[in-house]
Amino acid sequence: MTPAMTTPPRALILDLGNVLVFHDNAMLFRKLGARAGLSSAEAERRLIGTSWTAANRGLLGAEGIRRDVCGALGMDLPADEFNALWSCHFTIHEAVLPRVEGLVGRVKLVLLSNTNVLHAAWLRPRLPILERFDSLVLSCEVGHVKPEPAIYKEALARAGCEPGEAAFFDDIREFVQASSALGIRGHLFTTAATFDEQLKALGL
Ligand SMILES: [Mg+2]
Repeated sequence: MTPAMTTPPRALILDLGNVLVFHDNAMLFRKLGARAGLSSAEAERRLIGTSWTAANRGLLGAEGIRRDVCGALGMDLPADEFNALWSCHFTIHEAVLPRVEGLVGRVKLVLLSNTNVLHAAWLRPRLPILERFDSLVLSCEVGHVKPEPAIYKEALARAGCEPGEAAFFDDIREFVQASSALGIRGHLFTTAATFDEQLKALGL
């Protein structure tokens, strides 16, 4: 083994969606579509690439997301109903949490997520482990989204380490590749069991 492989990373940068929480986007589009009287395919077509991206870039606040998404779907829902519907597709990934908890204090923990203010607000109280992270890099707060280099550099700055000292886990291959291009040790997240093996291989 090379030294680089046996030296544990100083920082672990973790994706949120499909790592710490599952997000069933098909369900989200189905439920939003059903409420608006549209097919899920049509709901997805109207949202992806428009409101979705603007929300992830932090260009839309809570009320902006509600107005934009409802407008795109041709409906008008009160904030309470919309907010519940907009976050209906999350399930906490319980199996992975003990492993992450075990890393607190052993490595810098940084969250790196493409998300919007409403999803972040819904998830934070339901994922108390996030309060034990050293830093949360949320696209809607920093104005950059994965796979843009700037958001990975922000995560490294928050962790206070060089790219080669950080390991990054994400379920989307394109985002892993973007991290590797910057010299970060990128890993594809698949399952809690595989994550455990990957961490052991990293010396964690
Ligand atoms: Mg993800």
